[in-house]
Amino acid sequence: MSHLRLLSTDFDGTLIEHFSDGRCTPEFAEVLLHHKKQGGVWAVNTGRGLVHAIEGVEKFQAPVQPDFLLTNEREIFHRSREGDWVPEAGWNQTCYARHDELFENSQAIFDWLRSHVDVKSGISLAEENGQICGVITDTEADMNAFVDLLEKESALMPDFSYQRNTIYLRFAHRDYHKGSTLGELCRVLGIRHDEVLAAGDHFNDVPMLDGRYAAYPCCPSNAIPLVRETVLAAGGHIASQPAANGVAESWHFFHAERAS
Ligand SMILES: [Mg+2]
Repeated sequence: MSHLRLLSTDFDGTLIEHFSDGRCTPEFAEVLLHHKKQGGVWAVNTGRGLVHAIEGVEKFQAPVQPDFLLTNEREIFHRSREGDWVPEAGWNQTCYARHDELFENSQAIFDWLRSHVDVKSGISLAEENGQICGVITDTEADMNAFVDLLEKESALMPDFSYQRNTIYLRFAHRDYHKGSTLGELCRVLGIRHDEVLAAGDHFNDVPMLDGRYAAYPCCPSNAIPLVRETVLAAGGHIASQPAANGVAESWHFFHAERAS
Protein backbone atom coordinates (compact mmCIF):
# COMPACT_ATOMS: atom_id res chain seq x y z
CA MET A 1 0.00 0.00 0.00
CA SER A 2 1.42 3.37 -1.00
CA HIS A 3 1.64 6.12 1.61
CA LEU A 4 1.41 8.69 -1.20
CA ARG A 5 -2.23 9.51 -1.94
CA LEU A 6 -1.68 12.62 -4.05
CA LEU A 7 0.86 13.41 -6.76
CA SER A 8 1.10 17.14 -7.51
CA THR A 9 3.24 17.46 -10.60
CA ASP A 10 4.23 20.54 -12.52
CA PHE A 11 4.02 19.97 -16.28
CA ASP A 12 6.58 21.85 -18.43
CA GLY A 13 10.12 20.94 -17.51
CA THR A 14 8.90 18.44 -14.91
CA LEU A 15 6.86 15.92 -16.91
CA ILE A 16 8.02 16.98 -20.34
CA GLU A 17 11.40 18.31 -21.33
CA HIS A 18 11.39 21.62 -23.14
CA PHE A 19 12.49 20.15 -26.47
CA SER A 20 10.76 16.79 -26.37
CA ASP A 21 7.82 15.28 -28.25
CA GLY A 22 5.63 16.04 -25.21
CA ARG A 23 4.83 12.37 -24.59
CA CYS A 24 4.69 10.46 -21.30
CA THR A 25 7.62 8.11 -20.70
CA PRO A 26 7.13 4.37 -19.96
CA GLU A 27 8.71 4.82 -16.50
CA PHE A 28 6.27 7.55 -15.45
CA ALA A 29 3.34 5.71 -17.05
CA GLU A 30 4.10 2.71 -14.84
CA VAL A 31 4.13 4.91 -11.71
CA LEU A 32 0.83 6.51 -12.69
CA LEU A 33 -0.83 3.14 -13.27
CA HIS A 34 0.41 1.84 -9.91
CA HIS A 35 -0.67 5.05 -8.13
CA LYS A 36 -4.16 5.02 -9.65
CA LYS A 37 -4.63 1.30 -8.98
CA GLN A 38 -4.14 2.11 -5.29
CA GLY A 39 -6.77 4.83 -5.42
CA GLY A 40 -4.29 7.69 -5.62
CA VAL A 41 -5.08 11.15 -6.97
CA TRP A 42 -3.02 12.94 -9.64
CA ALA A 43 -3.07 16.72 -10.01
CA VAL A 44 -1.16 18.57 -12.73
CA ASN A 45 -0.14 21.81 -10.96
CA THR A 46 0.93 24.16 -13.73
CA GLY A 47 1.47 27.77 -14.73
CA ARG A 48 -0.42 27.06 -17.96
CA GLY A 49 -3.96 28.33 -18.36
CA LEU A 50 -6.75 25.75 -18.67
CA VAL A 51 -6.82 25.56 -22.50
CA HIS A 52 -3.07 25.05 -22.81
CA ALA A 53 -3.01 22.65 -19.86
CA ILE A 54 -5.65 20.48 -21.56
CA GLU A 55 -3.68 20.60 -24.84
CA GLY A 56 -0.50 19.54 -23.05
CA VAL A 57 -2.19 16.71 -21.17
CA GLU A 58 -3.81 15.38 -24.37
CA LYS A 59 -0.48 15.37 -26.15
CA PHE A 60 1.16 13.74 -23.11
CA GLN A 61 -0.97 10.59 -23.65
CA ALA A 62 -0.54 9.17 -20.18
CA PRO A 63 -2.27 5.83 -19.55
CA VAL A 64 -4.61 7.60 -17.09
CA GLN A 65 -5.93 11.15 -17.02
CA PRO A 66 -5.16 13.65 -14.23
CA ASP A 67 -7.98 14.01 -11.70
CA PHE A 68 -7.26 17.72 -11.27
CA LEU A 69 -5.73 20.55 -13.25
CA LEU A 70 -4.40 23.39 -11.10
CA THR A 71 -3.90 26.17 -13.63
CA ASN A 72 -2.28 29.60 -13.77
CA GLU A 73 -0.62 28.62 -10.46
CA ARG A 74 -3.92 29.28 -8.65
CA GLU A 75 -7.14 27.83 -10.13
CA ILE A 76 -8.59 24.36 -9.48
CA PHE A 77 -10.50 22.24 -12.02
CA HIS A 78 -11.56 18.64 -11.51
CA ARG A 79 -12.31 16.12 -14.22
CA SER A 80 -15.91 14.96 -14.36
CA ARG A 81 -16.88 11.38 -15.20
CA GLU A 82 -17.66 12.60 -18.69
CA GLY A 83 -14.13 14.00 -18.98
CA ASP A 84 -15.05 17.69 -18.72
CA TRP A 85 -12.99 20.07 -16.62
CA VAL A 86 -15.19 21.58 -13.93
CA PRO A 87 -14.12 24.60 -11.86
CA GLU A 88 -13.97 24.32 -8.07
CA ALA A 89 -16.32 27.25 -7.97
CA GLY A 90 -15.85 28.52 -4.43
CA TRP A 91 -12.06 28.64 -4.53
CA ASN A 92 -11.83 29.95 -8.09
CA GLN A 93 -14.41 32.71 -7.57
CA THR A 94 -12.70 33.94 -4.42
CA CYS A 95 -9.38 33.80 -6.26
CA TYR A 96 -10.73 35.91 -9.17
CA ALA A 97 -12.37 38.43 -6.81
CA ARG A 98 -9.22 38.88 -4.76
CA HIS A 99 -7.14 39.39 -7.89
CA ASP A 100 -9.63 41.90 -9.32
CA GLU A 101 -9.40 43.87 -6.09
CA LEU A 102 -5.61 43.65 -5.99
CA PHE A 103 -5.20 44.79 -9.58
CA GLU A 104 -7.63 47.66 -9.09
CA ASN A 105 -5.42 48.85 -6.25
CA SER A 106 -2.23 48.33 -8.27
CA GLN A 107 -2.74 50.95 -10.96
CA ALA A 108 0.45 52.78 -9.95
CA ILE A 109 2.48 49.66 -10.71
CA PHE A 110 0.74 49.14 -14.04
CA ASP A 111 1.38 52.80 -14.97
CA TRP A 112 5.06 52.32 -14.18
CA LEU A 113 5.05 49.05 -16.15
CA ARG A 114 3.57 50.62 -19.30
CA SER A 115 6.17 53.37 -19.34
CA HIS A 116 8.94 50.86 -18.58
CA VAL A 117 7.95 48.58 -21.47
CA ASP A 118 7.66 51.60 -23.81
CA VAL A 119 11.31 52.48 -23.43
CA LYS A 120 12.85 49.08 -22.78
CA SER A 121 13.56 46.41 -25.39
CA GLY A 122 13.32 42.67 -24.71
CA ILE A 123 10.12 42.87 -22.66
CA SER A 124 6.43 42.91 -23.55
CA LEU A 125 3.16 42.97 -21.67
CA ALA A 126 0.79 40.01 -21.45
CA GLU A 127 -2.92 40.81 -21.22
CA GLU A 128 -6.06 38.84 -20.47
CA ASN A 129 -9.53 40.33 -20.93
CA GLY A 130 -8.07 43.80 -21.35
CA GLN A 131 -6.14 43.59 -18.10
CA ILE A 132 -2.35 43.42 -17.86
CA CYS A 133 -1.67 40.03 -16.29
CA GLY A 134 2.08 39.66 -16.66
CA VAL A 135 5.17 40.18 -18.80
CA ILE A 136 7.23 38.13 -21.23
CA THR A 137 10.91 38.79 -21.78
CA ASP A 138 13.25 37.75 -24.57
CA THR A 139 15.71 36.04 -22.23
CA GLU A 140 15.92 34.78 -18.66
CA ALA A 141 18.61 37.42 -18.01
CA ASP A 142 16.07 40.11 -19.03
CA MET A 143 13.60 38.53 -16.61
CA ASN A 144 16.15 38.56 -13.77
CA ALA A 145 16.70 42.28 -14.30
CA PHE A 146 12.96 42.97 -14.52
CA VAL A 147 12.20 41.06 -11.31
CA ASP A 148 14.72 43.20 -9.41
CA LEU A 149 12.98 46.36 -10.61
CA LEU A 150 9.50 45.00 -9.94
CA GLU A 151 10.36 44.11 -6.36
CA LYS A 152 11.51 47.68 -5.74
CA GLU A 153 8.42 49.17 -7.40
CA SER A 154 6.01 46.95 -5.45
CA ALA A 155 7.83 47.04 -2.11
CA LEU A 156 5.08 49.08 -0.46
CA MET A 157 2.29 46.76 -1.65
CA PRO A 158 2.46 43.70 0.60
CA ASP A 159 -0.20 41.70 -1.30
CA PHE A 160 1.32 42.28 -4.74
CA SER A 161 3.40 39.33 -5.86
CA TYR A 162 4.23 37.34 -8.97
CA GLN A 163 4.88 33.84 -10.22
CA ARG A 164 7.78 33.39 -12.55
CA ASN A 165 8.62 30.57 -14.94
CA THR A 166 11.54 30.98 -17.38
CA ILE A 167 10.73 34.08 -19.50
CA TYR A 168 7.10 34.31 -18.31
CA LEU A 169 5.88 36.22 -15.28
CA ARG A 170 2.31 36.39 -14.00
CA PHE A 171 1.18 38.93 -11.41
CA ALA A 172 -0.48 37.32 -8.43
CA HIS A 173 -1.87 37.96 -5.00
CA ARG A 174 0.68 36.92 -2.41
CA ASP A 175 -1.71 34.32 -0.98
CA TYR A 176 -2.11 32.48 -4.29
CA HIS A 177 0.54 30.15 -5.65
CA LYS A 178 1.04 26.47 -6.42
CA GLY A 179 1.53 25.74 -2.72
CA SER A 180 -1.64 27.36 -1.37
CA THR A 181 -3.64 25.90 -4.27
CA LEU A 182 -2.30 22.43 -3.45
CA GLY A 183 -3.15 23.09 0.21
CA GLU A 184 -6.75 23.87 -0.73
CA LEU A 185 -6.98 20.69 -2.83
CA CYS A 186 -5.75 18.63 0.13
CA ARG A 187 -8.27 20.34 2.41
CA VAL A 188 -11.14 19.54 0.03
CA LEU A 189 -10.04 15.91 -0.42
CA GLY A 190 -9.09 15.31 3.21
CA ILE A 191 -5.53 14.39 2.26
CA ARG A 192 -2.76 15.06 4.77
CA HIS A 193 0.45 16.86 3.93
CA ASP A 194 2.41 13.68 4.71
CA GLU A 195 0.51 11.88 1.94
CA VAL A 196 1.61 14.28 -0.81
CA LEU A 197 4.43 14.12 -3.34
CA ALA A 198 5.08 17.41 -5.17
CA ALA A 199 7.40 17.68 -8.17
CA GLY A 200 8.62 20.83 -9.93
CA ASP A 201 11.57 22.33 -11.75
CA HIS A 202 11.33 26.13 -11.77
CA PHE A 203 10.72 29.33 -9.74
CA ASN A 204 6.94 29.02 -9.70
CA ASP A 205 7.23 25.53 -8.17
CA VAL A 206 9.13 26.67 -5.08
CA PRO A 207 5.96 27.38 -3.02
CA MET A 208 4.85 23.74 -3.32
CA LEU A 209 8.31 22.28 -2.71
CA ASP A 210 9.35 23.93 0.57
CA GLY A 211 7.74 21.28 2.78
CA ARG A 212 4.73 23.31 3.90
CA TYR A 213 2.20 21.64 1.60
CA ALA A 214 3.88 18.37 0.62
CA ALA A 215 6.05 16.22 2.89
CA TYR A 216 7.62 14.58 -0.17
CA PRO A 217 8.99 17.29 -2.46
CA CYS A 218 11.20 16.32 -5.37
CA CYS A 219 12.66 17.66 -8.58
CA PRO A 220 14.08 16.23 -11.79
CA SER A 221 17.79 16.63 -12.55
CA ASN A 222 17.05 19.57 -14.87
CA ALA A 223 15.57 21.72 -12.06
CA ILE A 224 17.05 25.18 -11.48
CA PRO A 225 19.42 25.69 -8.49
CA LEU A 226 16.79 27.43 -6.29
CA VAL A 227 14.43 24.46 -6.69
CA ARG A 228 17.19 22.00 -5.86
CA GLU A 229 18.12 24.01 -2.75
CA THR A 230 14.47 24.22 -1.67
CA VAL A 231 13.88 20.49 -2.13
CA LEU A 232 17.09 19.65 -0.27
CA ALA A 233 16.23 21.97 2.65
CA ALA A 234 12.79 20.33 2.91
CA GLY A 235 14.32 16.84 3.07
CA GLY A 236 13.11 15.84 -0.38
CA HIS A 237 14.71 14.06 -3.31
CA ILE A 238 16.74 15.47 -6.19
CA ALA A 239 16.50 12.95 -9.00
CA SER A 240 19.43 11.89 -11.15
CA GLN A 241 17.19 11.72 -14.24
CA PRO A 242 15.44 14.55 -16.07
CA ALA A 243 11.73 15.38 -16.29
CA ALA A 244 9.13 12.56 -15.96
CA ASN A 245 11.74 9.86 -15.40
CA GLY A 246 13.08 11.97 -12.52
CA VAL A 247 9.59 12.12 -10.99
CA ALA A 248 9.20 8.36 -11.40
CA GLU A 249 12.64 7.88 -9.80
CA SER A 250 11.58 10.09 -6.85
CA TRP A 251 8.34 8.17 -6.37
CA HIS A 252 10.35 4.92 -6.12
CA PHE A 253 12.89 6.62 -3.83
CA PHE A 254 10.21 7.70 -1.34
CA HIS A 255 8.77 4.17 -1.27
CA ALA A 256 12.17 2.56 -0.80
CA GLU A 257 13.03 5.11 1.92
CA ARG A 258 9.84 4.29 3.81
CA ALA A 259 10.39 0.54 3.47
CA SER A 260 13.93 0.70 4.92
MG1 LIG B 1 8.06 23.83 -14.98
